Amino acid sequence: MAAELNHFIGGKKVKGTSGRYGDVFWPMTGEVAARVPLASAAEVRAAVENAKAAQPAWAATNPQRRARVLMKFLELAARDYEKISEVLAREHGKTVADARGDLQRGLEVVEFATGAPHLMKGEYTEGAGPGIDIYSLRQPLGVVAGITPFNFPAMIPLWKAGPAIACGNAFILKPSERDPSVPLMLAELFLEAGLPPGIFNVVNGDKEAVDALLDDPDIQAIGFVGSTPIAEYVYGRGCAAGKRVACFGGAKNHMIIMPDADMDQAVDALVGAGFGSAGERCMAISVAVPVGKATADRLMEKLIPRVESLKIGPSTSGDADMGPLVTAAHLQKVKDYVEVGIKEGARLAVDGRNFKMQGYENGFYMGGCLFDDVKPEMRIYKEEIFGPVLSVVRAKDYAEALRLPNEHEYGNGVAIFTRDGDAARDFAAKVQVGMIGVNVPIPVPLAYYTFGGWKRSSFGDLNQHGPDAIRFYSRLKTVTSRWPSGTKEGAEFSIPTMK
Ligand code: NAD
Repeated sequence: MAAELNHFIGGKKVKGTSGRYGDVFWPMTGEVAARVPLASAAEVRAAVENAKAAQPAWAATNPQRRARVLMKFLELAARDYEKISEVLAREHGKTVADARGDLQRGLEVVEFATGAPHLMKGEYTEGAGPGIDIYSLRQPLGVVAGITPFNFPAMIPLWKAGPAIACGNAFILKPSERDPSVPLMLAELFLEAGLPPGIFNVVNGDKEAVDALLDDPDIQAIGFVGSTPIAEYVYGRGCAAGKRVACFGGAKNHMIIMPDADMDQAVDALVGAGFGSAGERCMAISVAVPVGKATADRLMEKLIPRVESLKIGPSTSGDADMGPLVTAAHLQKVKDYVEVGIKEGARLAVDGRNFKMQGYENGFYMGGCLFDDVKPEMRIYKEEIFGPVLSVVRAKDYAEALRLPNEHEYGNGVAIFTRDGDAARDFAAKVQVGMIGVNVPIPVPLAYYTFGGWKRSSFGDLNQHGPDAIRFYSRLKTVTSRWPSGTKEGAEFSIPTMK
């Protein structure tokens, strides 16, 4: 009998009462490992009320003390690092080595958020007028929420929670219902670190829980990460309810390979960024664009054997390049895309669809797939596949290569591989994409820079982590004061100016 998971509300595990559950799989074996409760709107409301009651005391706790709780959390996460990474790998399907990175990238944002006492400082102008001083204050918003995807079950919840909590908010996380165990482990660690009950809550669920958060008048801000159609929906409904909303969506990340690129380095980068985590990353490279026929032919010659020899294995195997996909349904969707590509006329140079993992026949595995001669009008080029499928689009020159990411509806990440500084500089200046790598295939900025795509990869004005996260989870107040208050100038009926 599969274990039953809980919600985590007010510092306690809380059993689900809606009567609705989702199955949580171990993709490497295909077994149902747990059942996750799917919250009703009433359960979401109870969590919000709990968080609302806890938040004022946390906001009144001085910012250094708040930061120290996060420092203690980092210490505890280091203690439990291997345990968390293993649970993450089993439930998601990625390798344990990759799961460690998922957790680490999340912890780095918590580390950044411990700087909130400095980052939240306001500004002060002395003597802005006669006896007049002006200063600004940054204050928490109240109760805020994060809605997160399956593919980074530690990193993205921590990207949202770390800055939100450091700023003095109470935070409600609605993680993916496909891998909710790590978020629940993080909730226990926050409590052990001394975070007051009610400041970090996990409400498990699906659309019903998301809608309840979007409509709840006590939720001030929502940070969402997931697919573009849901990102757009959450943005529209959340904004209509008067909330501050930032939503990060899907991607189709191109890697341009210039004729002068170091081809061995480019191929290493492509297999890692295309097939790591079975392509289930919003910063995965899913389109390779060799410039010129000779470059394309050299690329394919080196790439085909590398894709054919990818090591696929169970998440816990230790030496696998990639593990299984997250669910049987997702595996089928990715295989269906390969079929679409063949029908559209792309050339399937490596077909990994029939891969079977010996001893794990019920797991959700497939091998790497590589398409050549993909054209911009094909669905496999236009749509996000989110699996181990790499498309090669041949460009005749640099101008055509640059046009591809610029005309694509997504604009999350992009890379160029070249030895030519002029080309790299021109590319970085002109490409219509949020995050750019020069000889770096997955240009995820570090915690103290911000992360975010352009076009339909992102909805809202502020990015994730870095200084934008502090701006998103706090609001500014500006105070104009006059001392001595007794100054007599008589009533003023026109607007005061500095003329
Ligand atoms: P998803 O859109 O299916 O789910 C994301 C969240 O939305 C989950 O918590 C889910 O429960 C909820 N949700 C799903 N359907 C909903 C509905 N109809 N109404 C309301 N809420 C709903 O995404 P996923 O499959 O979990 O994650 C993969 C996607 O996330 C990919 O598209 C990937 O590119 C994207 N992603 C983007 C970034 C980024 O920063 N841009 C980062 C990671 C993942």
